[in-house]
Amino acid sequence: MLVDLHSHTVLCNHATGDMREYVERAIERGISEFGFSEHSPWMLQEAEKLAPDFEEIPTYLERVEALQEEYNGRTNPRVHVLLGFEMDFLPDKIALARQYAQRIPFDYIIGSVHHIGRWGFDQESQLALYQKRDIRDIYEEYFQLVEQMIASGIFDIVGHIDLVKRYGYRPKGGYRDHKENMARLLSRSTMVVEVNTSGWDRPAGEPYPDLEFLRILRQHQVPVTLGSDAHAPEEVGRHFGEARELLLAAGYTHITTFRQRKPTQVKI
Ligand SMILES: [Zn+2]
Ligand SMILES: [Zn+2]
Repeated sequence: MLVDLHSHTVLCNHATGDMREYVERAIERGISEFGFSEHSPWMLQEAEKLAPDFEEIPTYLERVEALQEEYNGRTNPRVHVLLGFEMDFLPDKIALARQYAQRIPFDYIIGSVHHIGRWGFDQESQLALYQKRDIRDIYEEYFQLVEQMIASGIFDIVGHIDLVKRYGYRPKGGYRDHKENMARLLSRSTMVVEVNTSGWDRPAGEPYPDLEFLRILRQHQVPVTLGSDAHAPEEVGRHFGEARELLLAAGYTHITTFRQRKPTQVKI
């Protein structure tokens, strides 16, 4: 069974297409669990709008709900639409994240680090800093934030766990130390790690996480799930064939889906 738990909507201002088209695309690609996971309104935004406003959240919830009414319960084709959220992890917004997690009946919440301090390290307009700073220090700071995110206990899924490699800047000798550390922390948490296939379309040229990282996660018995990070209908389920191979190669036979924040394992 295939699940795609990471997708966005026009409300974030950098995604395109009607939400219905995303679901239709999921059906075409044989995905039977499809989740929307819009960005949270507290995302740091510099020049351009990258997330819905606080006042737009009810619209997001209504739109997902309308699709759930339309699709869930159908048997042919069978697709289950889930209500998710990709919360931007910012240390000074933890209380807000916790409030949203308690108030809104999400099926699951992805926690994602998109900023180191105020630096949007995954934005094309902000790449200059990679030239000025030591790459190992950048990785250190990035993974410290992921560590804080795991420790907060608010989230169900780690979003693109090594997003810091997006533009291909990597420390010499790799970062196996961080992979081991993340896996160890996650094995003591209830969080699952998504295999985010968007990395194949970025300079990184591989998913977040890669095969080595996945193998380490497997050794520590950390569960996984799948997400395309679609910002357009045609991106739904992108590279899922390769992702499936990768998961099997790492020793995974099951992936996770959610209902009202409760994980279940389904066979890949
Ligand atoms: Zn986005
Ligand atoms: Zn993200």
